[in-house]
Amino acid sequence: MRVALISDIHANLSALDAVLRHGRRERTEAVWQMGDIVGYGPDPDAVVARLREVGAVGVMGNHDAAAVGLIGTADFNPLAATACEWTAEAISADTRAYLEALPSTLRHGDFTCVHGTLREPLWEYLMTAEAAYAHFALQESPYSIVGHTHFPVVIRESPGGGLEAEPAGDRSVVVLGESRVCVNPGGAGQPRDGDPRGCYAVLDTDAMAVTFHRVEYDITAVQVRMYVAGLPEALASRLSHGR
Ligand code: ZN
Repeated sequence: MRVALISDIHANLSALDAVLRHGRRERTEAVWQMGDIVGYGPDPDAVVARLREVGAVGVMGNHDAAAVGLIGTADFNPLAATACEWTAEAISADTRAYLEALPSTLRHGDFTCVHGTLREPLWEYLMTAEAAYAHFALQESPYSIVGHTHFPVVIRESPGGGLEAEPAGDRSVVVLGESRVCVNPGGAGQPRDGDPRGCYAVLDTDAMAVTFHRVEYDITAVQVRMYVAGLPEALASRLSHGR
């Protein structure tokens, strides 16, 4: 099976549609999403509708939880909190129900999906060695897939138990073998690694390989919708810079 791994869509329908189109060309048959479906962007209802349409399965992110009031926004930065309040007001009852029903972790055979880390599924950034070791200590499946940082990266466990992180560029391929691995497919709707193109990965469970992709999308179109919605301008302009 070929699976599109998509994380941090952040209510950006233009980016999601570009990624899904690319995924169809890559012959993907399923979509696994790693949370933060909403927050920041202008299209929460349309993004959830599209995910339903393609039968996506996935987990809850901190922005999804905050949008439906499961967690507060005290730990959000002011721009994120403003966008979260906008989202909470904007979403339909159907979108709310979809977001509320997302689990914090999801196991698909050899793969466990989570937004942050297995220690702190909603909140923790898998960015430090300490967080990475804590995550791997709780990883019961050979492979895990995370999001939240918006950085495409592969973390591999060596036979001695050490961990090595490798940033994943466009078209880089990672072969899954004996060692335990954690994959972050990057931020589809708000990349933060300096490349403004949408980011996702294709998992091939027959070849046991993950291929990363960068996908151009109409950034101006989503920025215009953000201005019209009255979302903070800094959140729109950052999309042009991939930061
Ligand atoms: Zn996010």
